[in-house]
Amino acid sequence: MPIAPDRIRHPEKQKRPDNPIQRKPAWIRVKAPVSREYHETRELMRTLRLNTVCEEAACPNIGECWAKGHATVMILGSVCTRACAFCNVATGRPDRLDPHEPEHVAEACAGLGLSHIVVTSVDRDDLADGGARHFANVIGAVRATSPDTTIEVLTPDFKEKPGAVETVTTARPDVFNHNLETVPRLYPSIRPGARYFTSLALLSKAKELDPSIFTKSGLMVGLGETAEEVYQVMDDLRAADVDFLTIGQYLQPTPKHAAIDRFVPPDEFRTYEKVARGKGFLMVSASPLTRSSYLAGDDFERLRAAREARLAGLGGIDLVELAADGAAE
Ligand code: SF4
Repeated sequence: MPIAPDRIRHPEKQKRPDNPIQRKPAWIRVKAPVSREYHETRELMRTLRLNTVCEEAACPNIGECWAKGHATVMILGSVCTRACAFCNVATGRPDRLDPHEPEHVAEACAGLGLSHIVVTSVDRDDLADGGARHFANVIGAVRATSPDTTIEVLTPDFKEKPGAVETVTTARPDVFNHNLETVPRLYPSIRPGARYFTSLALLSKAKELDPSIFTKSGLMVGLGETAEEVYQVMDDLRAADVDFLTIGQYLQPTPKHAAIDRFVPPDEFRTYEKVARGKGFLMVSASPLTRSSYLAGDDFERLRAAREARLAGLGGIDLVELAADGAAE
């Protein structure tokens, strides 16, 4: 269940100086979540006692996604054992694992009639396998009740726990997603509990273990990175054989979180998308409001079509056009 409103969500950040929250530019305004469908999705999550990253991360797309019944379930509890400077998920002592969570996720998937489900989690560095077995159990439960639903997992790095990535890939998700989040230079301040090359190695290993699983990763921009650094990350991801790249604007959740360096204008996202396609990703989604799980179901269909086209030997131009036809904006 979502944590109590009076609990301090980020105890480790309380002594940090405030970073004033900047006013968002016109291109980032989103609609308030008011639709009947939004409330129905919310009600279902409450009834099944499921957490969502949509709420916990204060995602700006929640009104749009939940109106379509697209919620990204966050398993392994609502409290994260890391303390990233960009993330609004509560930190502290983690929850006890709910053994019924896999069946509740499967019920939510069936209840929402999802053709594609995205399942993510908090970091659980306290668990011997980092929560990998729980991910596998969720995949199994969804497969059992919704065999036609495609499954995307957005995992933590599992802190290099032995056998963790194997446990997840053996359960055969359709997409293995793990976000690099930012460029390596900014890891010490933005993602201090993680290591850039550990994350890259995780993605590479997932692909090596099962090349039929699509791999995906995401970056936030507007944290002070340079375009050259982003291009280097693209090259590193291609070297790890990652299929799909998402790039979105970082939004600061509270004054205690990392400050926004700048709002990246839409034309720079279009440039990132063009460059990334040129580097050989099967799919790229880059826009201010792009998030890892934003329109993930629609993007999965395009991803599959792009791979089939590549396997059929269509040229680079055809692939770029095919993917661009349905590019998420
Ligand atoms: S973009 Fe992802 S996290 Fe945000 S509301 Fe949509 S499904 Fe949830």
